[in-house]
Amino acid sequence: MGIDPNFERNLERTGEEHDVDVWGPVEPPEKLGVRGTHVAVDFDICLADGACLEDCPVDVFEWVDTPGHPESDRKANPTDEDQCIDCMLCVDVCPVDAIDVDPGRENRI
Ligand code: SF4
Repeated sequence: MGIDPNFERNLERTGEEHDVDVWGPVEPPEKLGVRGTHVAVDFDICLADGACLEDCPVDVFEWVDTPGHPESDRKANPTDEDQCIDCMLCVDVCPVDAIDVDPGRENRI
């Protein structure tokens, strides 16, 4: 199962890390939640494939270390989500559907 596209309704915003919102529940290192709002990555699904980092035309993503997480020890953080041009490439290339992009989400919170 991929990221919940309605996570902003179903999860609580629990804080901020690496310049983006964190949506809980979060219990590091095993449970890391969803990261970002306009460009959101479910860190508990991300397996560090890296296609989003390679393909994003405006370099929204950067690696952050997540030692001890069961899926992967680094994750694609949407650090520069405010640069996103909504091309949806990252959504299409992610092999585990860990990414959801929605430019209107900020206005619905
Ligand atoms: S939708 Fe396009 S511009 Fe936005 S983060 Fe994904 S690949 Fe980058």
